[in-house]
Amino acid sequence: MVEAARIRNLPPYLFARIERLIEEKKQAGVDVISLGIGDPDQPTPAHVIEALVREAYNPANHQYPSSAGLLAYRQAVADWYRDRFGVELDPRTEVVSLIGSKEGIAHIAWCLLDPGDLALVPDPGYPVYAGGSVLAGAEVYPVPLLARNRFLPDLAAIPTEVARRAKVLFLNYPNNPTGAVAREGFYREVVAFAREFDLVVLHDAAYSEITFDGYRHPSFLQVPGAREVGIEFHSVSKTYNMTGWRAGWAAGNAAVIDALARLKSNIDSGLFQAIQYAAIAALRGPQEGVAGLRRLYQERRDLTLGALRDMGWDIAPPGGTFYVWAPVPEGYTSESFAEEVLERAAVVITPGNGYGRYGEGYFRISLTLPTERLAEALGRMKRALGRVTVPALQGDR
Ligand SMILES: *Cc1c(COP(=O)(O)O)cnc(C)c1O
Repeated sequence: MVEAARIRNLPPYLFARIERLIEEKKQAGVDVISLGIGDPDQPTPAHVIEALVREAYNPANHQYPSSAGLLAYRQAVADWYRDRFGVELDPRTEVVSLIGSKEGIAHIAWCLLDPGDLALVPDPGYPVYAGGSVLAGAEVYPVPLLARNRFLPDLAAIPTEVARRAKVLFLNYPNNPTGAVAREGFYREVVAFAREFDLVVLHDAAYSEITFDGYRHPSFLQVPGAREVGIEFHSVSKTYNMTGWRAGWAAGNAAVIDALARLKSNIDSGLFQAIQYAAIAALRGPQEGVAGLRRLYQERRDLTLGALRDMGWDIAPPGGTFYVWAPVPEGYTSESFAEEVLERAAVVITPGNGYGRYGEGYFRISLTLPTERLAEALGRMKRALGRVTVPALQGDR
């Protein structure tokens, strides 16, 4: 078999070595604690599960759904945007359902990028932006997210020729992996940049509801002109502990939404309708659980920052998401530090280079495990590492 170039050109899988080490430890009976994967440990709310069960019994839901999504689902998304962000969306033309937002993020490249076109992709970043672009035959230009810019891109630093050539700009706030948040003013700059260089903004808002210290994150779509230049991806995954359900959407510019819906009608047949009704129950139902989730992750964030401080790290608290992003101690690479922590503490952390070249020199801790297990993992790290020397805020980072 000869693989197609688009598969050969996918970035290599970086963590094979670490995964082998994890497997060896587990085989040897070691209790390995993973702070690697970002996947909520809390259950989906009961009223959402009840809606699924009820709707699963309705034969009308057993047939093919439309690939754009039930109008009732798209209406629930539009109403949620109105109530949460003050954004009015036409559910018929400005919202499309997705099989989780990852699906749309991967497929949007096929709508907007031809082979040889250029995509601006945040680095470090969720790997799907680059992966989807490469699969569509496009080139990727990494836009660095640096600590000194609070992990926001410096749009003015993107060379003019690059910005002119680029057709899309991916963005993601609250940000995975850095935990950074954005303000409305930043999105205004993004709209101006997109207008100047005629590119489409693809904003990933998966963590918009997971923020701390009272901060309520804006939507990209709420700033003037956003809808003329882009769309936003979102889902019920992180907000309602529903990662396994695969219910997401894209919202915003009608022409982009239409292109995505047409592409999808050639690929998938939409989202099981009972799941769409369950997602409607999540969006329209009581929201106290979301506030509780913010408190829970904030408590775990503070526990983690406190433990890291005891070990010598002094990092700005992440404003959102359920990740802590920190520089590795002096003398380590991302991978050698992750291996050291696994070897000596039986704790899995994610090496930052998995999120792009500007992630090298960092590691990510995920807060999605029971608080006692997190505390146990941090205690093990403290005992194993003692005090570390962390490089001061690096000039080029
Ligand atoms: C978890 C996550 C998503 C959401 O994925 P779904 O497919 O909606 O479950 C999107 N973007 C980022 C950056 C994420 O971390």
